[in-house]
Amino acid sequence: MTAEQETRPFVLVTGSSRGIGRAVAFELARAGFGLILHGRTHSEALSRTALEVEAEGAPVRVCAFDVSDRGAAQKALEAELEAHGAPWGVVLNAGLNRDAPLAGMDAEDWDRVLSVDLDGFFNVLKPLVLPMARRRSGRVVVMSSVSGVVGTRGQTNYSAAKAGLIGAAKALALELASRGITVNAVAPGLIDTEMASEADRERILPYIPMRRLGRPEEVAAVVAFLMSPAASYVTRAVIPVDGGISG
Ligand code: NDP
Repeated sequence: MTAEQETRPFVLVTGSSRGIGRAVAFELARAGFGLILHGRTHSEALSRTALEVEAEGAPVRVCAFDVSDRGAAQKALEAELEAHGAPWGVVLNAGLNRDAPLAGMDAEDWDRVLSVDLDGFFNVLKPLVLPMARRRSGRVVVMSSVSGVVGTRGQTNYSAAKAGLIGAAKALALELASRGITVNAVAPGLIDTEMASEADRERILPYIPMRRLGRPEEVAAVVAFLMSPAASYVTRAVIPVDGGISG
């Protein structure tokens, strides 16, 4: 790592092995940040993303843990803190869905979505918040969803978790505002990643005013704005990136 690379502010992007998180990592690399890339496991996809982001000239570190596993998250993040100090920014992006109408939803699918998508907020941010606050500047961006804003049929678990994230982000924004740390949520509509099933695409397309899915890069651009100096007075906001669905 060059001396210049060592001084870059680092941003942890959870779930950056693929999809939206991967696009966020590229966008932040181009904007001059160092990256802490993360996935559930040390997968091939995560290693590939790390190599490709590094090729953009960004210093990269990699970590892997299940965000629903409080102990694993704490252990990995404390090791990161010990070795490198607090990251300047965090993008809480890791997430999953397990869709079914409530009447037919398995309890495991309710629990899994809540524990990854909502408990992940606590598990990842709890070890980091105090060290970040001590630095008195920084950014947190939470990946919510249009589902958490308007509610989506077949997604009571996912809508609950994503709405919960908005409440948690707004509350944390108040707790950290005087420390110079902004906390905002991004609420994407249907984005063209592995998460968007064929059934979703067919069902939801007619309701999207722009009549197309969003691209991961279109979400990443908004995250990069929130990380930038230009967004220094934006906090406690929920920014839709949904082709007009929620407007
Ligand atoms: P993908 O399924 O393409 O990628 C999900 C990412 O999250 C992967 O990096 C995956 O890691 C990681 N991840 C999943 N579960 C866990 C876990 N338990 N612990 C740690 N990491 C985990 O999803 P998208 O890129 O589409 O979605 C990213 C975020 O955006 C999610 O929070 C999603 O809810 C949200 N979103 C997505 C929309 C869409 O239409 N695609 C719309 C609105 C919001 P690994 O590769 O190791 O499994």
